[in-house]
Amino acid sequence: MWNKALSLLTVLLGLSVLCAQAQTVPNILVIHSYNPGLSWTDDIHQGIIETFSASGKPWSISTEYLDAKRYPHEHILRMQSELIATHVRDHAVSAVIVSDDAAFDFVLQHRDELFENVPIIFCGVNNFQPEMLGGAEGITGVSEMISVRETLDAALALQPDTRNVVIIGGSISSTDRSNRSKFLRLMPSYAGRLRFHFWQDIPTPVLLEKVETLSPKTLIFLANAIAGLDGRMLDFGPSVALVKANTQSPIYGFWDFFLGHGIVGGKLVNGAEHGRIAARMALQILDGTAPADLPVVREVANRYLFDHRELTRFNLDEKALPEGSVIVHRPQSVFEANKRLFLIFGSVVITLLVIIISLTLVMHIRKQTLLELQSARRKAEEANEAKSLFLAHMSHEIRTPLTGIMGLAELALGNPGSPNVQEYLTLIRQSGQNLLHIINDILDFSKVEAGKIELQNTSFDVQNMLEVAIAFFNTGLKEKDVTLSLVLAQELPRTVLGDENRIRQIFFNLVGNAVKFTEKGKIELRLSGLTCEDDSPRMMLDFEISDTGCGIPADKLHSIFERFTQAAHFPTRTYQGTGLGLAIVKQLIEAMGGSIRVQSTEGTGTTFFFSIPVERTLPEEAAQGPAQDGEPRIHELSVLVTEDNPINRLFLQRSLEKLGHRVICATNGQEALDILATDTVDCVLMDIQMPVMDGSLATRYIRDKFGHDLPVIALTAHAMQGDREKYMEEGFDEYLAKPISIKDLTMIIAHVCGKKTP
Ligand code: ADP
Repeated sequence: MWNKALSLLTVLLGLSVLCAQAQTVPNILVIHSYNPGLSWTDDIHQGIIETFSASGKPWSISTEYLDAKRYPHEHILRMQSELIATHVRDHAVSAVIVSDDAAFDFVLQHRDELFENVPIIFCGVNNFQPEMLGGAEGITGVSEMISVRETLDAALALQPDTRNVVIIGGSISSTDRSNRSKFLRLMPSYAGRLRFHFWQDIPTPVLLEKVETLSPKTLIFLANAIAGLDGRMLDFGPSVALVKANTQSPIYGFWDFFLGHGIVGGKLVNGAEHGRIAARMALQILDGTAPADLPVVREVANRYLFDHRELTRFNLDEKALPEGSVIVHRPQSVFEANKRLFLIFGSVVITLLVIIISLTLVMHIRKQTLLELQSARRKAEEANEAKSLFLAHMSHEIRTPLTGIMGLAELALGNPGSPNVQEYLTLIRQSGQNLLHIINDILDFSKVEAGKIELQNTSFDVQNMLEVAIAFFNTGLKEKDVTLSLVLAQELPRTVLGDENRIRQIFFNLVGNAVKFTEKGKIELRLSGLTCEDDSPRMMLDFEISDTGCGIPADKLHSIFERFTQAAHFPTRTYQGTGLGLAIVKQLIEAMGGSIRVQSTEGTGTTFFFSIPVERTLPEEAAQGPAQDGEPRIHELSVLVTEDNPINRLFLQRSLEKLGHRVICATNGQEALDILATDTVDCVLMDIQMPVMDGSLATRYIRDKFGHDLPVIALTAHAMQGDREKYMEEGFDEYLAKPISIKDLTMIIAHVCGKKTP
């Protein structure tokens, strides 16, 4: 009992699903006039299917074929119609699409019986006229209009001397009738120019004999398919091929499925497009649009299509074709025919080229990098070598005066009572001064290298400066057979504005070299001035220092102003010197805006020319230098000397005591602070680097306790550029760089204690 009920329920559910499917999936009945395999029919069908597929909607299609092309006889057609009617009777159909006239006639005949209220869409129907419907409704579609005139005109454009036109076709089918009537309508407009011949319903063997006799100037229009030699209807393509095989005349047609089989071309109907239009209309109707709202499409864009092979065969000029014509079967160029091969070959060649270029580039970069590395390495090695040479040379230069100092000191100590002690001490001081000169050179050079040269601008007596220098050097030349003279130009101003100390340094350096490298002959100094503009104070001082010394070898001339390496260029020389002098001189002159050059002949002598820009000033503007008549006098002071080096401490203590001051000594900052806690002093001399507590820290404590009431003078071997400023900022009142001269010490003490004393 339960089982029966369950089965019934299943059947009911199944039926309801089927009903629902029947409702949702529309069934379209497609009836073709002709048979499957006929390109016209197949093209239409393909257009229908592809349009439904692209719609994305559910659909099902049933297809029937009337086969009217192969069996055009009335009685067969009737039997065929009855068969299809049997097929479709009792089947729910949502819409009917018919292709070509026979199928269209069939649905019209069976409208009430089989397709009542079913929308009907037609395509490929020749020259549709509304009267054809006989008042029936719910029918729309696309009419087939072959382009007879356009095709004929295109053919005449290609073959203008044509006089005869042969139209091959039948007379039974509506297509044939319609085509013939079209030709008949346009014939009058070609009267006198063309003669039209309708070859209809001619048995194929006869037809083929007839076409064989035609001249190439006659145009054949194949207006339908023909039967084969066995009497059976052929498809369109084989129909064309058969005619073509038996004639010398060009063949034209009206449908695109003729193309490629032997027709020259024409303005051709496209079957697939008919199918597409009909399917689009069917989809709109299924979506709810009333067929009456979709007017019959009369103008389907037929296209001018031509076969390149036929055009060539008949030597027809493409240029005569209507605008927009498409030519098919054009032979491909070698490139097009082997496009794939070319692309692969091209890609391989490009890839290889890229690889080759990349490799070349990589090799080039590698080579370049290698060269750069080698050059950098060479430079580094050269620089290193130059520095080593420089250091070796410096060591030599420093050791030489040191040897003198130490040796003479030993001599003096060994013979304390000897009358030579005074001479030894004088020589020791001289060696010390040489040493200081070397060290100053090095310092100067480091300043120059760092670009930190600071130039002063003071008014000074340039002539006097030169005269003093000449007197200085003359003293040293007493033992040599060399004369030193100064030639001053007439128009020279007495005083100028410039950096006196630096100009003196340059001058001393160059004259010093001349003296050093000249054993015999003369050294001449010339100074002339050149005013830049008449009323301008600016002028150039032109110096010329010439000697009759050993000269400079030609191959070394270019390098004598260079740093480090320069001294190394003269390894065999017997003269002393740092090898830095000329480098400093050149940099100083250039920093002042001047220039220097040299002329020299080995064994004959050397001349240095240099110019320095200055400003002329009036003599009274010349700065009044410090009093030259000995140290300033100050009353007796209490001085705290803080110095960890016992020799320096002793030197300071003795020197200050000699000047009449009371001296207390401390060996480091802490000791100094301890002394200051119990003792009162007028001034503190403070070394910087000391054990226990350094001078900077000790000075900070002093400042905390005494403010600036107690002057503190920094004594340090830190004598580089900027050191003075640094110590002044730390709170020192003054700064003295080691080695300290008694003269400088006296002046500084007088200065700081003078400031303090009201
Ligand atoms: P140095 O301290 O060695 O003299 P310089 O830089 O002043 O250093 O000079 C560099 C080199 O130029 C000297 O070593 C010397 O060989 C050459 N030189 C400079 N001036 C003269 C000169 N008047 N006569 C010959 N050679 C000179």
